[in-house]
Amino acid sequence: ALECGIVGLPNVGKSTTFNALSKATAKSSNFPFCTIEPNVGIAIVKDERIDALVDLVKPANVVYPTVKFVDIAGLVKGASKGEGLGNQFLSHIRDVNIIVHLVRCFEDEDIIHVEGSIDPKRDMEIISTELILSDLQIIENRLAKAKKTNKQEAGILEEIKLKLEKGERLVNLKAEEENIAKELKLISAKKVIYVANVDEKSINGNKYTEIVEKIASQEKAPFMIISSKIEEDLAQMEDEEKKEYLEMLGLKESGLEKLSKLSYTLLDLITFFTAGPKEVRGWPIKKGTTAKKAAGEIHSDIERGFIRAEVTSFDDYIKSGGEKQAKEMGLVRLEGKDYIIQDGDIVYFRFNV
Ligand code: GDP
Repeated sequence: ALECGIVGLPNVGKSTTFNALSKATAKSSNFPFCTIEPNVGIAIVKDERIDALVDLVKPANVVYPTVKFVDIAGLVKGASKGEGLGNQFLSHIRDVNIIVHLVRCFEDEDIIHVEGSIDPKRDMEIISTELILSDLQIIENRLAKAKKTNKQEAGILEEIKLKLEKGERLVNLKAEEENIAKELKLISAKKVIYVANVDEKSINGNKYTEIVEKIASQEKAPFMIISSKIEEDLAQMEDEEKKEYLEMLGLKESGLEKLSKLSYTLLDLITFFTAGPKEVRGWPIKKGTTAKKAAGEIHSDIERGFIRAEVTSFDDYIKSGGEKQAKEMGLVRLEGKDYIIQDGDIVYFRFNV
């Protein structure tokens, strides 16, 4: 599953954002998960194509692709050395695919800033530095071992260490560096989305969000603005009311919806669909996934016994009016195990049990 870890200094709005997420989740039905941990929230990735398929097929059940958000609390200056809640909390972050870095861009005398003032650049540096220091510890431990046993690996580790010591994030790595970064789950090698949290008045930006945006663009990382307070309100509204409120704000979608979509595309994910009377479902896969591998997303038995995939493009499916009609019109293609699944394909897998 696609996992995003939300990081940021205390009092930047992580819990507020997170509560909004949990409330929105609790309101949405048809949830594929039964229990979720307290620091975990699940967001649906909205997809109009699924709605269109539901209108046509009228299934008993609908499942949208989802993104899992993990609240990584406890990051403060010195966390990598054990300050605050310390390193134990940093360990949660190592398993996520994307880091969502939330930055405080709202003023409020009543809400203390741990560093005493609103200063996005400094805040972002504190967080980045802690993450880098935490990676450096891991590199140094590994390097001590590699020096004795694996000279080649030690060389690669030295290169990574050099970058980290310069305060650089680990982007554009060579293949061998990438492998080690993955194995050691280095945080600095993960993709980042910068999110500026603003008050209700600044949804189109303010002097602080400009700073965040500039840093994000220097790092070629995506940037967006959210108002955690607005998200909380939106999460409690019914669809119609929510639509009106968003229109009033001049927004197309909620911040959380935008964030889910952004993380989805950042990881190069596309969606294929399965559609039948029991269920219409969207399945996230990496761009370039073969039919056989995609079958494995549904069940390992289907991958193992794969015979062929019956594939209809989304447009053909809708145009013809459903599976049966698409078959009659010759719009259903038979594809083998090496077929690369395309975004929007509606797939029926044939397999041996
Ligand atoms: P966390 O420590 O990062 O989890 O931050 P919280 O979500 O607990 O937020 C800290 C405080 O800031 C809470 O009292 C929030 O209600 C408040 N807060 C969050 N976002 C905003 C905002 O946009 N404007 C104002 N004025 N307060 C906010």
